[in-house]
Formats: sequence, C-alpha cells, structure tokens
Amino acid sequence: MDLREWLPQAVEAHSAWRAGFGVYTPHPVDDVDDEDFAAAYAEFVKRMDDNYPFFHPRYAGQMVKPPHPAAVIGYVTAMLANPNNHAREGGPATTDMEIEVVAELAGMFGFPRHLGHLTGGGTVANLEALYVARESHPGRDVAFSADGHTAHARMCHLLGMRGHAVPVDAHGRMDMDALEDLLRGGRVGTVVLTAGTTGLGAVDPIHEALVLKEKYGVRLHVDAAYGGFFTLLAGGSGAEALPSEPWLAIGACDSVVVDPHKHGLQPYGCGAVIFSDPGVARHYRHESPFTFFTEAALHLGEVSLECSRAGAAAAALWLTLKVLPLTRDGLGAVLACGRRAALRWAELITDSPALDLYQRPELDIVTFFPRTEPMSLSGVDAGSTRLCTTAAEAAADPVFLSILCTTAEAFRARHPGAVGDAEQARVLRSVLLKPESETHLDGLHHRVEELAMRRDR
Ligand SMILES: *Cc1c(COP(=O)(O)O)cnc(C)c1O
Repeated sequence: MDLREWLPQAVEAHSAWRAGFGVYTPHPVDDVDDEDFAAAYAEFVKRMDDNYPFFHPRYAGQMVKPPHPAAVIGYVTAMLANPNNHAREGGPATTDMEIEVVAELAGMFGFPRHLGHLTGGGTVANLEALYVARESHPGRDVAFSADGHTAHARMCHLLGMRGHAVPVDAHGRMDMDALEDLLRGGRVGTVVLTAGTTGLGAVDPIHEALVLKEKYGVRLHVDAAYGGFFTLLAGGSGAEALPSEPWLAIGACDSVVVDPHKHGLQPYGCGAVIFSDPGVARHYRHESPFTFFTEAALHLGEVSLECSRAGAAAAALWLTLKVLPLTRDGLGAVLACGRRAALRWAELITDSPALDLYQRPELDIVTFFPRTEPMSLSGVDAGSTRLCTTAAEAAADPVFLSILCTTAEAFRARHPGAVGDAEQARVLRSVLLKPESETHLDGLHHRVEELAMRRDR
C-alpha cells in the first residue's frame, strides 16, 4: 500500500460524495492564496524535521510508531467529512463502525456480552472504568500494581477514591499474596490488573486474581492499554506464543482497557474501554440539552464520559481490521515479529561481553544495561544514561533507546550480586513494536554493543 497512490483516492472519494449534494458556491472568507499557503507550509515542514524517526528500526525506544497506511486512509477519508461519534446524527457511518470494532475487541477478549466504546486514549478509558467501579462499589478502595500505570493513582485522586499500590514480584507482576492480605481488610472494592506493564511488559496473574474475585466480592478491571493485543498470541505455538492462562482470564473480568493507538496500528486518539455487564450504562445517565437523540438505537454519547470524539478514529480502526483482522494470522502476525525480536535480542544481550539483560522480556519490551565490573547500581545508572545519550547523538548511525528507572530493591531482586550503592538505577528500555525490528535486529544489536564498548571510562 503506497500512500502516494491512496491519499489522492481518499480526496477523490470524498469529492465524489460531496458532488452528490449539488453545486454550491464556497464563501471566499477563508480562502487562502496558494502562494501564501506554500510559504506557511514550507515553514511547517521544516519544523516537522525536529522529530525522532519512529518509523525506522534504528528507533528502538518508546512504544511509538506511525499508523498503518490503511489506518491513515481510513482516518483521512472520514476526517474530510469530520463526523463526531458523540451521537448517531454526528456520523451514522462511523458510529456503526465504532459499534462493530468495539464488538470485535470485546470478542478478542472473550466477553460474551459487552458495553463499550472508543476513547481518546488509555488514560481516559481507565478513568471511565474506575468511575464505573466507584459507582458500582461506592465508598470502597482501588488496588493496583506498584508497577502499574501512573494513571491509576491519579484517576483515583480525581475520583476521590483511595488507591493502594500492591507490591510486585521479581518479574514485575502483582504479588498475589500481598493482594490477598489487602483484600482481607475489606476496604478494597476494585482490583486493577495490568496485562503488560508499560515499563517492562509484565503480565499480572489475572487467572489467580479470578479466585479472589469470588472470595472477596471485588471487581476486576484489566488495564491492557499496551498489552491487550498480545492476547492474539496466547496459547499458540512457535517461539512467540504466550502462556494462555492470564489472557483467557480477561474474559471473566468486569472491564478491560486497550489502546489501538499503541499496538493496533492506529494514529493517536484511539483507546477503548469495554465492560462485561451492559447494565453499567445506568451509571452514565445524563441529559444533554444540546444533543437530539433522533433514534432509539444506542447513542455512544450516552455511555461515554467524553462528548465529541473523532468518527475518523473509528473509521481508521474499522478499515485496518478489515485487512488485518484480530486473529493470530492477522494483526497477531505483526505482534509476533516484535515478540520474536525481543526474545532474540535478549539472547544476544545475555551472550554479549558489553551488555547485560535486566530481565527476560515477557512481551516485546527489552530492558538491559552496559556491563560494569563490579556490577553496581551507580555504575549501571551512569553507563545506561551515557549510552542512551551517545547512541542518540552519534553523528553517523544513531540508535534511539529509552530509559527505565528501577529502584535498588527491584534491581537487586533480579541481580542479587549488584553493589547497592545507590537508591535507584536507570536501565535501557526498547519497545520492539515494529516488524522491522525483527528483520534488522542483528544490525541494531551490533550497533548498540559497539557504542557500549566504545565508552571512555
Ligand atoms: C499507555 C498506557 C496507559 C495510558 O494510556 P494513554 O493512551 O497514553 O492515555 C495506561 N495504562 C497502560 C498499561 C499503558 O501502557
């Protein structure tokens, strides 16, 4: 798919649709002279050069990559009409597409029934899940993993709920004994489990939490903003397969959040929240004097905290899933590349004289640091931050990595021999979410290794 071929077709399709409504004279008030625009555009394009090459395999930092061309064409084609999925009359076509894609996402997680919608992102999707949790279990607290996303503590604060950070084990997964201790106290009404932590990609034992759901009568919410689409690899065969238990358990939880703008090939502005009980709609009841609900069918604006939302985001996801469906061989094949790349890189790092692995990757996030003799927290911290900077600033053949802050306790849980001469140690972190990360892995590894060896000390 070449955007140079398909972008003009998006404009054509939109023009053809417009022509069906008859000729009219556009008002000159917002007309802009082509020459004036050319000057502004030249300045704009120059400003845009100040960016990291998210598309390139040499960018192995944060979980960012450009959208799939199918998403771009879906987004642009719909955006030219600019539908608003707040209400059906804001955009009937994209409202239907949203209902369809949310049903596909719910199906991917194994929800037998559902209520859900797209959101601006994972933060607001989690806010909605916690809002519904508060309304369902008034006055009770929320427990989340100490390694979970910062959004949970912040959203609890916003909602006036008390949040508890539950300690993690040596893999970065929520410690189930610590959780049960907390639940015995009887204050907690909702447990947030993370299927793929943002830092390490750790998957909490959701299947074990299911037992506690029965025993203590708590709600279970799964934050799968980053990791959700990895459920497509659960229980499969091949190097990239994942143990199925935690992923299968999501279908028995009360709500789940997933970000199509992370692993779903979408442009930013596309998260999703899905509830297993359609009855939670009662917590959203509100009457807007501005919205005229002309049909009896479901209005997404009635079950969403956000009002205006881009219909184009639903269009982009719908068109993407038409060509890369939510199956092992569809979108799953894309995630499998990153997962295999992460496993292979972990092996290369383990065997490297210059680099050491922080922990084995659970999904597609690799964490590592330059070796020092002896291994000390201060040495790991200095070596990692220096390598991150020199790799990005290299005049030729740069590599872009990101940083993960680890506490002394977390670091020494994985490397008991490390000299604990600091409170924390920053390590390097690479999210390998591009399929090209697999095909270019050897080059990436050798370059990082070379940069690590070259350091002057
Ligand atoms: C990214 C992320 C979020 C926040 O989502 P945004 O789309 O950035 O708002 C929440 N939880 C997890 C696990 C994430 O990875």
